[in-house]
Amino acid sequence: MNYQAILEQIQTDIAPLLGQGRVATYIPALACANPKDFAMTLHLVNGESYHAGLVEKRFSIQSISKVFMYCIALSLFEENIYERVRVEPSGNPFNSLIQLEYENGIPRNPFINPGAIVVADMLTSYFGSSAEESILHYFQNTCDDFTITIDKEIFNSEHNSGYRNYALANLMKSFGNIHNDIEKTLDTYFNACSISANTAQLARSSLHLANNGIDPITANILLNPEHTKRINALMLTCGHYDASGEFAYRVGLPGKSGVGGGIIAIVPNIMSIAVYSPALNVHGNSFAGTKALELFTQYSGHTIF
Ligand code: GLN
Repeated sequence: MNYQAILEQIQTDIAPLLGQGRVATYIPALACANPKDFAMTLHLVNGESYHAGLVEKRFSIQSISKVFMYCIALSLFEENIYERVRVEPSGNPFNSLIQLEYENGIPRNPFINPGAIVVADMLTSYFGSSAEESILHYFQNTCDDFTITIDKEIFNSEHNSGYRNYALANLMKSFGNIHNDIEKTLDTYFNACSISANTAQLARSSLHLANNGIDPITANILLNPEHTKRINALMLTCGHYDASGEFAYRVGLPGKSGVGGGIIAIVPNIMSIAVYSPALNVHGNSFAGTKALELFTQYSGHTIF
């Protein structure tokens, strides 16, 4: 298949859509992004990679970090996670408080904010003051790229304006589902969200999720096959919050978005994909990025269904 030609076709098709939707502004530092930026990378398990657009451009991975935090937690805590975070789609926005109140502070899944905050709390308990560094190191390892850093400007901006996340953490603490100081746990969470990467690095970081947990380039075992299955299942059912059904319906792949404008998607046994475009739809998912992935599955025929 001529993947480069497919990417170029997508770039042409997507051009009129760039700028539709809105860049996130509730984290002030994200508001500086150019709504017309676009980048896309395909990374095949055979080692080949294909790119279109601004592939050098780094952006904060935001909620895509929830995938990597949960991978670490699954490896460390196994079955003990489920009494604190469930694995059901929420049908609600990523930062909603309502469901959490009537479900006694137990988040529906690890890919909405409260779920990821509980996972950050578990990692904070386990790693102590090196939680931030441990998550960054895990991510660098999946990319096989140790130049990846945390964008402290984004971190500070979210730290100073994260009112809803403070509310979520406090509510869960009142139910006994946050064990550390709110500040410490949110520090871990905000740092993970502020990891900065480009589409080439992001696609590389999730390549093992297309290959039963083994990095096909380095042969490192990053996740066991059972956990890899679970991560992909969660990405399909919960990766786009209350638009997860729509994403599965239109794209037909496991995927995870972030409000920075990035999305990763997995074609099991074939490739990982990363796309970037910071203008978001009403659900907080990249508008053009989602469309680009839909076009990709349409043109290539690669879908899990
Ligand atoms: N850091 C963001 C927040 O907590 C992540 C949300 C997202 O990417 N959907 O609000």
